[in-house]
Amino acid sequence: MNPLEILYKYFGYKSFRPGQEEIINAILDDKNALAILPTGAGKSLCYQIPALASDQFSIVISPLIALMKDQVDSLNSNEEIAAYINSTVEYNKILDIYNKIYEGKIKLLYVSPEKLESTGFAERIKNLSPKYIFIDEAHCISEWGHNFRPSYRKIVEFCNFIGNTRISAFTATATPEVRDDIVNQLSLKNPEFFIRGFERENLHLRVFKTKQKKTEVLKLVQTCGSPAIVYTSTRKNAEELTNYLKSNKISCEFYHAGLAPEKRRLIQDDFINDYVDVIVATNAFGMGIDKKDIRLIVHYNLPGTIESYYQEIGRAGRDGKDSQIHLLFDGQDKYIQEFFIKTSFPDREQIKLVYSLICNYGQVPLGIQPDKPIPLDKKFYQILFSNEINKALFSAALGILEEAGYVKQKSELHQNYYLEINLEKERLREYVKKLKNNAFQEILITILREYGGYLFSGKTKINIGNLAEITGISKPDLIFNLDELTKIGILEFEKPLQSPAVFLTATRVDEKYLEFDFKKIEKQLENSRKKLQSMIGLVNTKKCRFNYILEYFGETGSTYKCGKCDNCGGNLEENASKHYIEENILISLFDLKSEVNEERVFDILSGKSSEIGVAVSNFGVLANYSLIEIDEVLTDLVIEGHINCKNSVLTISDTGIELIKPKIEKKLRPVQENIEDRLVLYNELSQKRKEIANKFGQTASLICSDDILKSIADKKPETPAELLDIEGFNQRKFNKIGDDFLEIIQNFQTQITQTDISLPESYKEVIELINKNYSLEEICELQKLPEAIISVQIETILSYLPELEISPLIKQSEIREIKNRIDEGMYKLKEIKSQISNSISYGKIRIVLAKSKDR
Ligand code: ADP
Ligand code: MG
Repeated sequence: MNPLEILYKYFGYKSFRPGQEEIINAILDDKNALAILPTGAGKSLCYQIPALASDQFSIVISPLIALMKDQVDSLNSNEEIAAYINSTVEYNKILDIYNKIYEGKIKLLYVSPEKLESTGFAERIKNLSPKYIFIDEAHCISEWGHNFRPSYRKIVEFCNFIGNTRISAFTATATPEVRDDIVNQLSLKNPEFFIRGFERENLHLRVFKTKQKKTEVLKLVQTCGSPAIVYTSTRKNAEELTNYLKSNKISCEFYHAGLAPEKRRLIQDDFINDYVDVIVATNAFGMGIDKKDIRLIVHYNLPGTIESYYQEIGRAGRDGKDSQIHLLFDGQDKYIQEFFIKTSFPDREQIKLVYSLICNYGQVPLGIQPDKPIPLDKKFYQILFSNEINKALFSAALGILEEAGYVKQKSELHQNYYLEINLEKERLREYVKKLKNNAFQEILITILREYGGYLFSGKTKINIGNLAEITGISKPDLIFNLDELTKIGILEFEKPLQSPAVFLTATRVDEKYLEFDFKKIEKQLENSRKKLQSMIGLVNTKKCRFNYILEYFGETGSTYKCGKCDNCGGNLEENASKHYIEENILISLFDLKSEVNEERVFDILSGKSSEIGVAVSNFGVLANYSLIEIDEVLTDLVIEGHINCKNSVLTISDTGIELIKPKIEKKLRPVQENIEDRLVLYNELSQKRKEIANKFGQTASLICSDDILKSIADKKPETPAELLDIEGFNQRKFNKIGDDFLEIIQNFQTQITQTDISLPESYKEVIELINKNYSLEEICELQKLPEAIISVQIETILSYLPELEISPLIKQSEIREIKNRIDEGMYKLKEIKSQISNSISYGKIRIVLAKSKDR
């Protein structure tokens, strides 16, 4: 079969995408290809097809276990042609895979880079003789890349060992230094480069110089639509901006590395499921999220490099539809990035300081080299921070000291496990014979066979990975069981230190005499500054912004013009705001359901005070637009038949309703409960799982996996049948933990009080005060805010919590007076005010109106 036939047979596609065919042909010609294509361009096919075309099998080295599994599963959907080997695969399964390769069934073997370090594995592969070696995510080999993986450096050794030079590499990272690094580290001879496809036709790039960033973001998320991601450079910015957007009725959450992992996952899921429209995030957000319809990406602060900018904007418009990309820039931004750079690279004195701090912490006197590692634990980091050394500075300094031969970091790979058996040989043998627990038996017999008598005479280093392979018990389970055996006193099992640690590799010297290569740091520093300079260049360039990016990535001499960025004269903004006005006119007509004229629509949408309290959800949203702009759009809507106009009375037509249907449906969507609350439930369930796991002597994941736990927390089943309906939760699980889960969920549901909403803090305070029966006057005094503001806050609160009781706020007699007017059909503040006792304030009327609205 030729490549095109394979493409169709295995993947169902009729044609190649740009670049794919050339790359495939180069590989089939036994060339070393280095393919640099952006994410989503289709790199996988470029190696899968040559592999399928060959009689032999090929190896794919890939760093992400989850992706490996996905790819293999999808390749195997018809017949088994691919497999993966990584730390999660059990030994028996591995043997089975070797057999299938030998029989020629499996054509693609995905492996994790760590696996390459095992000599047993390398021997097997050598004997099986692979045709090609493909390295996916090849930037991981480079320290200049954003995702350096030390084990990627072992690839070349592995290739030499098995004697294969048909190596090709794939990445989306296009910077010249990473490219060169890949070639050097893999020792590729005469590689052929393929740099393609970095243009994205549907992204409209725009740079906006402004000091009013917050209002600008608000306008953008209102007009350009959602889903949207706003990137900020600091956590504080993310939180502040989120509060600002929330107070302007935008559905929005912040996301950064300071949040607990479960919370981050929930926010991410809510965004993917369209419960949250806007995510304001630091660059911690976005890796691995696959959402195709992101319409807007805003950079609130200047990114530090074109690479990160390109990666972040690349998340927009994966569905191919037009999407807006905005970079907001003010003079300050440059200094923030310069500050980041400065605080990521240590100077000479800081390196010396780090050395002294480590030695002091380990209580190492001058001239001595301790044989124990010095732990880098929490206390140590506190000392570091109080000396103004942050983590980035520390790890850079440590790298320099290691290279200079003063210290050695204890990496995860070199962390050792030790074992010693407490019983005498004979007694142990008897014990094993009597054992009812199969796992204990299996483990004890295996370690005796593998390590023999040593175990009785002292602490012996064991290879836990190897034991896992031989026993067929997974590593976590093995560790769990060895811990159990320790608890009952059969043996002593010592695990590696939880926190990382360093060894001194030479005696401690006076810091004055430390000698190290500072040039490397200088080079990295200079490199970071250059990258920032290029990013600023993108802000200031007068030519096509996409062309600028392509040139940066190495597509030199390109005359590409995107025709859509601000420099190319593309102008989508006008259309976007026209669309925004259109949508809001229709929504107000839809909400009003009464007959209005053009003037009132304008008053309502521009937020005229006489209209306060009118029952439309988008009151005042067009305050920034002129009568002329709104009028123009309205006239068009009438001409196009989306609005009926009779005797200057306006009503929305059926086609008008059709236009805003998605918006209306979205409004009807159930309000997602507070992220914190869901987290509380998740944690309670997981606590119970731990208890039960201990009771049954099993691992927690065996009782119920995290994913299932999460579905339970999301769906909150209340009956056994509902719980059993949750995917993966079977009768066996139910027998162990079902009733406990149901009880927790029931308690949780009754606990959820009225504060279960995502409102800003100040609003929650107000709710609390209302629940404590404070009056409106008292709340204003306590919150130190005028009644006008507090009453608007309560109005918003009531739209979330229509059942909130307002009787403590306002005297019964006053409520009655206002209500009577409302019942008579009045809905304007002013009108009601003129008809009731003078002492009743506007604020009170607003609140009663809001309360009546949802009846
Ligand atoms: P990359 O690794 O470059 O990020 P992938 O290999 O994961 O991208 O491919 C992204 C998507 O594009 C996949 O869903 C893949 O099936 C699809 N794809 C790749 N090549 C083609 C093609 N020639 N025609 C249609 N779809 C393709
Ligand atoms: Mg890929």
